[in-house]
Amino acid sequence: TYVVTDACIRCKYMDCVEVCPVDCFYEGENMLVINPNECIDCGVCEPECPAEAILPDTEGGLEKWQELNSTFSSQWPNI
Ligand code: SF4
Repeated sequence: TYVVTDACIRCKYMDCVEVCPVDCFYEGENMLVINPNECIDCGVCEPECPAEAILPDTEGGLEKWQELNSTFSSQWPNI
């Protein structure tokens, strides 16, 4: 699963949303998030992000962002 991190805050470029084959981006309060239950781990979005905010959850230290992506994507609209 890929995770949107703090570099997305107040950025919200939509390039990632355009390329996601399963439409699993959601609009959070001040950033976009990925629904971890829908992401198929294809990695297509990662190079599209101009802020380099999207990282694979295999990277360490992303617990806070994993939780936030999960919470926001259950509360905010799909985009
Ligand atoms: Fe969508 Fe693939 Fe990015 Fe997951 S890794 S959010 S499925 S584009």
